[in-house]
Amino acid sequence: MRLTVLGSGSRGNAILVESGGSALLIDAGFSLRELLARLAAAAAEPSRLRAIVLTHEHGDHARGAARAAAAWSVPILASRGTLDALAGTLAADTATVALPPSRPVAAGAFTVTAFPTAHDAADPMMVVVEDGDGPRLGVAYDVGTPTVALRHACRGLDALVLETNHDEVLLRASGYPPAVRARIAGSGGHLSNRQAGALAREAAHQGLGTLVLAHLSDRCNRPELALRAVQAELAGSAFAGRIVVAGQDAPTPTIEVGTPAPQLTLPLPRPR
Ligand SMILES: [Zn+2]
Ligand SMILES: [Zn+2]
Repeated sequence: MRLTVLGSGSRGNAILVESGGSALLIDAGFSLRELLARLAAAAAEPSRLRAIVLTHEHGDHARGAARAAAAWSVPILASRGTLDALAGTLAADTATVALPPSRPVAAGAFTVTAFPTAHDAADPMMVVVEDGDGPRLGVAYDVGTPTVALRHACRGLDALVLETNHDEVLLRASGYPPAVRARIAGSGGHLSNRQAGALAREAAHQGLGTLVLAHLSDRCNRPELALRAVQAELAGSAFAGRIVVAGQDAPTPTIEVGTPAPQLTLPLPRPR
C-alpha cells in the first residue's frame, strides 16, 4: 500500500491510497482541476481510482467530490449523514455507498471501515483502509475530541494520518473572536498538538511505521511545533517509525505503508 497526502489544511484535504493497479481518494477538498494537478504531481493516474471516500461534508474535505466522482465515474463512500448533507450537489448518476459505523465495506481491492467522531459536521467519520489482509491505514482528522471509540480505532495501524490542528498558545494569541477559538478548541472542533500527541502515544506500537501530521492551521500552528509536541509524547513509547508533516500547498512524498518485518521461520536458538 502506498500513501500520498495530496494536501492537508483548512483550505483543502485529499489523500491518495494506492495498491497494485487500484487507488482510492480519501476526501476531495480541492477543485477537480486542483485534484488533477496534484494527482499528476504524485504521478498517479485518475483512471485507477475506484472510489472517493469522504470523512465529512465540510468544504475543505468535499469541495471537489461531486465533480470528481462524475468525471471519473466512481462511487462516493461516506456515512449516511454525510451523503444526505451532499445529496443536492451530486449528479443523478453518481453512485453512493453509505458506510455503516464500524463495519467493513469493500471498495476495489480495499476494505474501508468508518468510525464516528465528535466533529461538528452532520455525521463525521474517521476511516481505516485495509489492503486485503495487508496493511492498515487510519485517517483521523477533524475528529473534535479523542473519544474512547476514536482511541480504540487508532490502535493496531500500520500508518496513521493524524490531525495536529493547533498549538494552544498560538490559538489563544490568534486574534480569532472568542466564539471561533471556542469552536476550534471545543469537543466538536479540532485536536491540538498536545491532544494529538497523547493520541499518537496511545496508538504507538512497533508496527506503526508511519505517522503523518495533518490539517495544521495556517494561523495557529507551525510544522516544527506540531512535530516537537508529538515527538515529546512519543519519547519512550514503542514507536520506531517515521513522522511526516503534511502541508497545504503540495503533496507529501509517496510513502510505502506496512512493509512488514521479515517473519522468523527458523526456530530461535534456545536461551542459555
Ligand atoms: Zn477540515
Ligand atoms: Zn471539518
